[in-house]
Amino acid sequence: MKFGTKAIHAGVHPDESTGAIMTPIYQTSTYVQEGVGNHKGYEYSRTSNPTRSALEKNIAALENAEFGACFGSGLAAIDCVIKMLNPGDEVISTNDLYGGSYRLFTTIYEKFGVRFHFTGMSDAESVRALVNENTKMIWVETPTNPTMSIIDIAAMASIAKDSNAILCVDNTFATPYLQNPLDLGADVVMHSVTKYLGGHSDVVMGALVTNNEKIANEMYRIQNSSGAIAGPMDSFLVLRGIKTLHLRMERHCENGEKIARFLESHPKVDEVYWPGFASHPNHEIAKKQMKGYGGMISFTLVGNKLEDAFSVVERVKIFALAESLGGVESLIGHPATMTHASIPKEEREKTGVVDSLIRLSVGIEDADDLIEDLKQALA
Ligand SMILES: *Cc1c(COP(=O)(O)O)cnc(C)c1O
Repeated sequence: MKFGTKAIHAGVHPDESTGAIMTPIYQTSTYVQEGVGNHKGYEYSRTSNPTRSALEKNIAALENAEFGACFGSGLAAIDCVIKMLNPGDEVISTNDLYGGSYRLFTTIYEKFGVRFHFTGMSDAESVRALVNENTKMIWVETPTNPTMSIIDIAAMASIAKDSNAILCVDNTFATPYLQNPLDLGADVVMHSVTKYLGGHSDVVMGALVTNNEKIANEMYRIQNSSGAIAGPMDSFLVLRGIKTLHLRMERHCENGEKIARFLESHPKVDEVYWPGFASHPNHEIAKKQMKGYGGMISFTLVGNKLEDAFSVVERVKIFALAESLGGVESLIGHPATMTHASIPKEEREKTGVVDSLIRLSVGIEDADDLIEDLKQALA
């Protein structure tokens, strides 16, 4: 089955009792048993719930996975993966990863004896050099935020395989429409469903998918034991959102390209970070492992002044100044003072987060209006 058909049909069936075409919101905590141990497959909604199960099957299908699990947030999904490790285990991670993932790794899990090594993964050899007998996991985020570096997933999978470690990929930015890490050798894929999968900025949720039965059993055991599950109402909203994922992504890519090219030609704009440019340092890898380049773009201003960046993000009228990404509406952000504010200036500048850096999550409005908006804000 192809992607658009799966987005609409995978995991969902007309309701058996009424024929309702949309999966009902099973807003229930428990299920009546006919006799002791005699039930219809559901006992308690932390363990499983029919609305959530439908969504878990749907997201798994989109990533060509057998098993899926949904959580109360993207970070709760990452938390579940790290809980599969033991004290003394080591993780090699992308260095310019999502700030919340960095905070979870360093302020929660290091305390429990898990060690994290952060490195620029565009150079595969720097990853191989960090492997030792305690290495149990490689954590990859690609494209990275906000400078859109691309990491070669197949190369990371080969290092993980050689070192008996599991490879997890945070696929939030690319979405399953543009990139399928399991097909490239990853063991687990994580999504902040909050972003493109939900797509309408109305839900916070996370997901994990895998084809490895042993990892899946651990995933469901931790999901049930720690209890950070997604609720039925949110699961319904995301099932609805995913039905248009393929259409939305086509438009995000189309608008992203138009805006990246507009910015590239603007005299007040210095660097534009978008993996679709042939001049992007990892363009060849992006071309190899992604079906399109998405709607996430960052750029800097000539002169690199903080107040110039503030003036642009405050003058836009259609773009909304906000954190998050991946919704139908366009957002604009200033990483140095918003998403990356907790990182010391010297550290953030090493990964390209300079004072004038502006990040766009290009939505699915009419591109001409978005370009006009940026044009007046830059003027
Ligand atoms: C937002 C985000 C997360 C965290 O997800 P939440 O749903 O906010 O908990 C993780 N990784 C990436 C790349 C994200 O953009």
